[in-house]
Amino acid sequence: KSAGKSTWRMYRQDADQSRNAFTRLSWKDRIVEALENDGLELHYQGIYGAKERDLVHLEALVRMRDAQNPGGLILPGHFIPHAEKTGKIVDIDRWVIKRTIELLATKPNMPSVAINISGRSFDEPELPEFISNMLRVHCVDPRRLLVELTETAAVSDLRDAQRFIDALRATGCTVCLDDFGNGFASFAYLKQLKADILKIDGFFVRDLPNDRDSQVFVRGMVDMAHAMDKTTIAEFVENETIYTMLVEFGVDLVQGYYLDKPQRNHPGIMEN
Ligand code: C2E
Ligand code: MG
Ligand code: MG
Ligand code: MG
Repeated sequence: KSAGKSTWRMYRQDADQSRNAFTRLSWKDRIVEALENDGLELHYQGIYGAKERDLVHLEALVRMRDAQNPGGLILPGHFIPHAEKTGKIVDIDRWVIKRTIELLATKPNMPSVAINISGRSFDEPELPEFISNMLRVHCVDPRRLLVELTETAAVSDLRDAQRFIDALRATGCTVCLDDFGNGFASFAYLKQLKADILKIDGFFVRDLPNDRDSQVFVRGMVDMAHAMDKTTIAEFVENETIYTMLVEFGVDLVQGYYLDKPQRNHPGIMEN
């Protein structure tokens, strides 16, 4: 209809799946366009000490500016899967790494920043080297960068993952397993992947007040992580009840809407 009266178009299912019906630009084109024309931005959410509630880290979360809807943003859940499928995730990863390290370089007193790298990038062995070069060029202390490995459930080869994590830790940055507990092989990963931090999946945290199994599970993960000398973060801390339970369980760090929402101009950056 939008093309005018008395017109018709052939319908192809594959076209419908991979193309946006309004712009007829593929996700790949939109991602390339965003990378080339300043169409991505990072928002930051605080990660706080559980007891003191002091700001310890910031997590950088990517968004894409919506070309169809000025001022609108597209959340990563919509475009990261397409970036992964088309291989463009490599360019997004590099953009996030570069942006973050440049920010850290200009703000020597800001908290350390956690970035997200998809488990699908484990077969990208140059990435740890890219990070270490970038840190060196900008004279940024690697301890100011945390790398959250997301979707580790998508890891097809644990040896690749182990090699990737070892290389990352050799650069001196801190490695965190994101969304821990989500995915069937979590315990195998824990045994084999030498991460510094476990971030407990928000799925368990959100249900804490009403679900005894989640309570047992979160408590168990915290104790287990501590026995392995790892730090724990709980994400999706949405209210005071959840927050209080987590403090009681001994979790180290908390993150969620109860503390703050992801925002472009986070006070933790602005005030430093
Ligand atoms: P994640 O790393 O587990 O990030 C947490 C997600 O939960 C974020 O969604 C955040 O906005 C949201 N969140 C934070 N606090 C709360 C809360 O209290 N309640 C609820 N319900 N949600 C909360 P977002 O920004 O949409 O990101 C979704 C996922 O996209 C991330 O999950 C991460 O896996 C991925 N992602 C984000 N940025 C990047 C990136 O730069 N690169 C890659 N590869 N993946 C990214
Ligand atoms: Mg994350
Ligand atoms: Mg997470
Ligand atoms: Mg998540």
